[in-house]
Amino acid sequence: MQKLPDQTNQNTGAIETVFTSLGTTNRIQVLSYRDRTAAKAALKRAEARVRELHDNLSVFQPESELSLLNASAGCGGVPVGKDAFALLSESRRYSAMSGGAFSITTRALSALWEIHARCGTVPLRSEVEHARALVDDQDILLDQEAQTAELRRFGQSVDLGGIAKGFAADEVRNILLDGGVTEALINLGGTICVIGGVKHVGIQHPDSVTGIAMGRISLTDACAVTSGDYERFYEVDGTRYHHILDPRTGYPAASGLRSVTLIGQSALALDALSTAVFVLGAEAGLPLIRKAGLEAVFVTNDMNVFCSEGLRGSFELLVSAP
Ligand code: ADP
Ligand code: MG
Repeated sequence: MQKLPDQTNQNTGAIETVFTSLGTTNRIQVLSYRDRTAAKAALKRAEARVRELHDNLSVFQPESELSLLNASAGCGGVPVGKDAFALLSESRRYSAMSGGAFSITTRALSALWEIHARCGTVPLRSEVEHARALVDDQDILLDQEAQTAELRRFGQSVDLGGIAKGFAADEVRNILLDGGVTEALINLGGTICVIGGVKHVGIQHPDSVTGIAMGRISLTDACAVTSGDYERFYEVDGTRYHHILDPRTGYPAASGLRSVTLIGQSALALDALSTAVFVLGAEAGLPLIRKAGLEAVFVTNDMNVFCSEGLRGSFELLVSAP
């Protein structure tokens, strides 16, 4: 694990931390605050909170609550902590809201595709069908009183990769606000939250190196989350297989989008819905986006970029359409 030292810029008084957790690189920059000591303490607490969420919620940690839940699928309920319970419950809600496009029980499929990615092969249709039959977020049974969770059927499993970074970003923002921070830029592997004044956030070019933007949006006291096919993928015979799966087909989502970026107040909502909209496509996704009161930037397969009406004043196209 790489941990860069707490860096302090004496000129601006900025404080920042960069660390690896939640399977990604996280950067939290605190730019203005009421009290420097309190802001530093808040930044420390924020980093510790992200690490705690990783330890409890990652399915890649064998002892995490989520790994224990997966290991007990079909065998009854297991106790889960407050965070896991809340995220499982929110996940079920977003799954229902998106007609199943967002389903954390896609883990059965992701696990299959991950094995084939390692081998550079594509799963057989029968393997995909077998895993797809295990996907149904209504099979996540939650008992509020007992604080237990259960996966109804043997072989089912969940992962919070599509929602956890959003939850973590909201937590970081709240901790910083409590610590008297008045301006900050939170970036948890591309899940972005801005506290205070205007910050420009790039819309990544799907086929260019990281950091090359197709456009940019300006954010003030808001969050932006992107789901795209360029984050994690492998290729076989010229076909790209990426990590966001369509629970209806069992294959990587092919809805005509290269990426969707959602803008709003709750990073958790943005994270869940950006994954859902990436699966559904722009047309089927727009009603969801409107209902949730969010704004969106879409990059389509033919590299057209378009945004929702509310962004017309704050979205800037940097690369002209083909
Ligand atoms: P990223 O993790 O690249 O920011 P997303 O938020 O869209 O992108 O989440 C993708 C992750 O969510 C995948 O790596 C996988 O763990 C999980 N996932 C894949 N497909 C779905 C889906 N249809 N619904 C919910 N989670 C999914
Ligand atoms: Mg997501």
